[in-house]
Amino acid sequence: MKSENADIIIIGTGSAFPTASYNACSAVRFGGATWLTDAGGGNGIFAALANAGVDVGEVTHFFVTHSHTDHILGAVWLMRGFINLAIAGQLRHRPTVYANSEAMRSLLTICRLTLLESHYRKLLTIADFRTVDEGSSVNFAGASVDFFNAGSENVAQTGFRMHFPSGKSFVCLGDEALTESNMPHAAGADLVLCGAFCRYADRDIFKPYEKHHYTVKDVAEVASRAAVGTLALYHSEDRTPDRQQSYAAEAAQYFAGRIIIPADGETINL
Ligand SMILES: [Zn+2]
Repeated sequence: MKSENADIIIIGTGSAFPTASYNACSAVRFGGATWLTDAGGGNGIFAALANAGVDVGEVTHFFVTHSHTDHILGAVWLMRGFINLAIAGQLRHRPTVYANSEAMRSLLTICRLTLLESHYRKLLTIADFRTVDEGSSVNFAGASVDFFNAGSENVAQTGFRMHFPSGKSFVCLGDEALTESNMPHAAGADLVLCGAFCRYADRDIFKPYEKHHYTVKDVAEVASRAAVGTLALYHSEDRTPDRQQSYAAEAAQYFAGRIIIPADGETINL
């Protein structure tokens, strides 16, 4: 069987209020197509994509995990990017936009209320909007993508498991942590990308639990039981100066697999 590698590109690593990093979002390049998951909270998505070496025009599939500010407002700017490319005659394909019912309703409503009416109408013709709730499966350049409920405590959040022809699998939980409730969907995955708000050691400073988020230790413990190959953590505070080293050190106490604490723009080869 032909085995082709996938690149998982971490566009932004911050939680909702980062200053030194962009809001958590990521991309997958595989088989000549590019799948973008979330777009952060504003037009900083363009700089964040450029920093990661991703062109707006190469995005063939776009998925919004949930309708919170730091994930969906950048999507409006991405739609503007698609519209501008289409107007310039430079949109070479028809992007597919996926979201659960709630996030899709939010995205289309915000676009309708904030874009020029003619641009909104154009958007509906140049992109293919498809609602994907838990249990849905789609094809991405030969990889199959299964959507599931990420188990968020305060919003309808959808995660996915991407199965590549090589046999490898990538699980993205949006900004959710890996928890007991979503663990079955991530079990045995080669790479899991999920939220870790701060170190357990710093829980009294950043107060993750009252924001429905979890710590590096919490996630690492579940990852160990879920037999995950590589654990990549993002959607974090960005005030800890040695965040990458100190998060990895805490995770390593509870998880024996490979740990990646990415910086914005970093690529993970799968
Ligand atoms: Zn978030």
